[in-house]
Amino acid sequence: MSTPNTTATLEEIVALCKRRGFVYQSAEIYGGLNGVYDFGHLGTLLKNNIRAAWLKSINEFGDVLQFEGSILGSEAVWQASGHLTNFSDPLVDCMSCKHRYRADDIDLDKSCPHCGNKQWTDVRQFNLMFKSQLGAATSSTNDVYLRPETAQSIFINVKNILSTNRVKIPFGIAQIGKAFRNEITPKQFLFRMREFEQMEIEWFCKDEDSLATFERWCSARLDFYRHIGLTMHNIRLHAHTKEELAHYSRMCNDVQYQFPFGWKELEGIAHRGTFDLSQHSQHSGKDLGVFDEELKSSYLPTVIECSVGVDRLFLTLLFDAYTEDIVEGEKRIVLKLSPTMAPIKAAFFPLTKKQHEPMSALYHDIKKKLGLAMQYDDSGSIGKRYRRQDEIGTPLCFTYDYDSANDNAVTVRHRDTTTQERIAVERVAEYIVDTLNSPFQKIY
Ligand code: ATP
Repeated sequence: MSTPNTTATLEEIVALCKRRGFVYQSAEIYGGLNGVYDFGHLGTLLKNNIRAAWLKSINEFGDVLQFEGSILGSEAVWQASGHLTNFSDPLVDCMSCKHRYRADDIDLDKSCPHCGNKQWTDVRQFNLMFKSQLGAATSSTNDVYLRPETAQSIFINVKNILSTNRVKIPFGIAQIGKAFRNEITPKQFLFRMREFEQMEIEWFCKDEDSLATFERWCSARLDFYRHIGLTMHNIRLHAHTKEELAHYSRMCNDVQYQFPFGWKELEGIAHRGTFDLSQHSQHSGKDLGVFDEELKSSYLPTVIECSVGVDRLFLTLLFDAYTEDIVEGEKRIVLKLSPTMAPIKAAFFPLTKKQHEPMSALYHDIKKKLGLAMQYDDSGSIGKRYRRQDEIGTPLCFTYDYDSANDNAVTVRHRDTTTQERIAVERVAEYIVDTLNSPFQKIY
């Protein structure tokens, strides 16, 4: 094997996603919808693995309740949260070619990168929320917004959740769901989308424990990224300066990843203090405090929030896993995803069509027994079948050959090393489970 190339370009990732059906441009047959994507079979499987790994990791931190809030939110919610006034990006237009930019993305002392002229409009604030109306009436009291983050639906339900579950501070409420932002310039594929999915945990604790809890969450989130197989030298924590802090944050650390387009935020870990609960208590007139049995009084708990985009993590995993090397004189693309993240866990090949019956029986048997995503492939040379699986990150391929009927064994081939070994048919299921459970280390 040659020295592998482990740095993919954005174009290579986009091409792979399209070629193998991970991601499609939304409404492509009608010219596409900018910043909106659909996910195919492999993409959906990968997303499910991301969601499952995230849920598992946050449950390991402590007591966590799950929640699924509505996507539509009334104006009152966004008024109280501050989004109506603060959730905006600076916008500027080129008066000559009418190109529109995020003002903090370009240098306004220079000419328009599109037409070369220097005729800028004033910079103005553009609110990123999508607005709509509930029902047929056109009164502004029916204004609703697609949520730009999942968190607020948790905060406004805190009273309901506390009165219907037996939880005590500290505890968390977790939500995975869609969020919408009318980004001025969606770009870098899944990095900046207009419709995307967030995984957010709001952790409620006592204020005196909040700094230690914030630190604990930062290290738990780094452990998560290590655990799902990301290369840790491409990950770092960036502490927000005073100028960078959002209006609701007391302190914030971004988990950043080194993308080909620079170090960028993958996840935000924010100490939100009591900002959200106190805003919603004031605006709704309802006490959102938690009753302390010892003090016999109610108080607003402090919130630590961890928020990461499913799609942004999807893109990160692909960048991190993408590898090109030479195997038997041929270039191959291999996704070195950890087995827990790989969309397909194992592939089953009969060497020729003659071995179809026993191999297809084994495939169906193992698939039923383990309930995992697997593939059966009997078309093309074995080499071609390996390449197809390498490109989508399948960790194990099993081949039933001429000797299998005699020795009741199959050949298992490992994605990263391409090494092969012979194992008994009755060990196949156990072999797959062991691979999924072993700590993952990329092998080059
Ligand atoms: P950025 O500075 O990159 O716009 P942000 O600080 O606005 O991000 P948050 O509001 O902290 O982002 O959102 C939490 C997480 O949601 C981000 O870390 C990211 O993973 C994801 N996310 C936010 N906006 C988008 C988007 N437009 N497309 C895809 N994922 C996003």
